[in-house]
Amino acid sequence: MKLCLFDDYRLGVVEDDAVLDVTDALNEYDRGFLTPSWVRFCRDHESVLPRIRQLKDSVQPRRLAEVRLRAPVLNPSKVLAAASNYGDHVQEMAPRVQEWMLDFDIFLKAPSSVTGPGSTVALPAVDGQEIHHEIELAVVIGRQARNIDEEDALHYVLGYTGLIDITVRGSGDRSRRKSYDGFAPAGPWLVTADELPDPHEVDLRLWVNDELRQDASTSYLLVSIPAMLAHASRIMTLLPGDVFASGTPAGVGPINAGDRVVAEIGGIGRLVVDIA
Ligand code: MN
Repeated sequence: MKLCLFDDYRLGVVEDDAVLDVTDALNEYDRGFLTPSWVRFCRDHESVLPRIRQLKDSVQPRRLAEVRLRAPVLNPSKVLAAASNYGDHVQEMAPRVQEWMLDFDIFLKAPSSVTGPGSTVALPAVDGQEIHHEIELAVVIGRQARNIDEEDALHYVLGYTGLIDITVRGSGDRSRRKSYDGFAPAGPWLVTADELPDPHEVDLRLWVNDELRQDASTSYLLVSIPAMLAHASRIMTLLPGDVFASGTPAGVGPINAGDRVVAEIGGIGRLVVDIA
């Protein structure tokens, strides 16, 4: 099932070119479209998803092109991301960064950096430094996870979405360089884990304008998604609605005002943003 948030944070199911409004499947106290309703939905998904499945075929479809999609990420307690998780990206960065940055690690992006599909990202003034795109498969957490084992880790996953980890290249803390407003376009929707049983078979392709810059597969992840989740859960409790971007393959490069960035995440969809 492809779940989206749209318009005034309605909850929808995407089928082909249509959106089915299933907001009424939410618990009653969540129908006022208060922002934490998404986090509660992530937490309560085991009871809400069956209601969505029941409801969706009885509602009037709307054309996908006529709704405004929002990021399928709303008020997460954190946006985690993996660094140095593809060998070819580590190689391309080796001449540019300090050695410690080439080791796998996890870091945080400000939740306020999240923006939705179709949005325009206004680049900040960064004094001549390049601002790069990084296409990533992102995990959305569905169950609180603390000190979990790798073998069980996928049970804590509600689903997956695409994320562009926009980054100011250069020295200084990642949490600043990756947290400007708009630096985490996410979407175009969330695909529930049952539809993506193996997150290590996802093709990732990113174009800037018509130039293919990144073309890889999550099969090349150095640290697998379950291992990444287990590792992170030993550092900080993963909460429903949290987002974890799994790292980017080679081909990162600069984006500039006027560019259109298209990120295609296999089995999920196309995430498009404009750069201003
Ligand atoms: Mn990244």
